[in-house]
Amino acid sequence: MPYETPPLPYAYDALEPHLDARTVEIHHDKHHVAYTTNCNKALEQHPQIAAQPIEQVLRTLDKVPAEIRPAVINHGGGHYHHAFFWNIMGPGKGGVPKGPLADDIKKTFGSFDAFKDQFSKCALGRFASGWAWLCRGPDGQLHICDTPNQDSPLSKAHTPLLTIDVWEHAYYLKYQNRRADWIAAWWNLVNWDAVADLYAAARR
Ligand code: MN
Repeated sequence: MPYETPPLPYAYDALEPHLDARTVEIHHDKHHVAYTTNCNKALEQHPQIAAQPIEQVLRTLDKVPAEIRPAVINHGGGHYHHAFFWNIMGPGKGGVPKGPLADDIKKTFGSFDAFKDQFSKCALGRFASGWAWLCRGPDGQLHICDTPNQDSPLSKAHTPLLTIDVWEHAYYLKYQNRRADWIAAWWNLVNWDAVADLYAAARR
């Protein structure tokens, strides 16, 4: 199997009380695993593509045969985005970023609070299923955007730094229709050290 679902980097209940153990377990062991499995299935006859890191595949979708491209966008995107999502959260996190990331957030959005507000509104405003992102664009600037379904910012030459999953499966057991409450709670889980590492790598 070319791609594997990375193990959850913490226990199912590690994100309590902001995110419940049952949601994390189903989200990782069922949803995430299904994306990885279906990505592998889509690429069964295309080992030369599956040999590449998934980031590279999503960055160069024009090299993916048209007949499997929608499956790669959906399942390859889902495989990659969820691994990314687990990695930028952690128990006892939250707070504020430090270093160059903090400086550039302030420079770009005015203040950390203004950034937080704009990002939260973006996540809340994503109609139906998708993600909100902080990315470094090809222009070297920070950008907030949202993407539908499993469409990836990588496919638009953006480098993801931070993301929140706003598919209902990410929050419905605990928050039901209250997406705004999920977003507000999620800030307490953001692992800013992990985000700073991604930013440093993106700027290299
Ligand atoms: Mn999800």
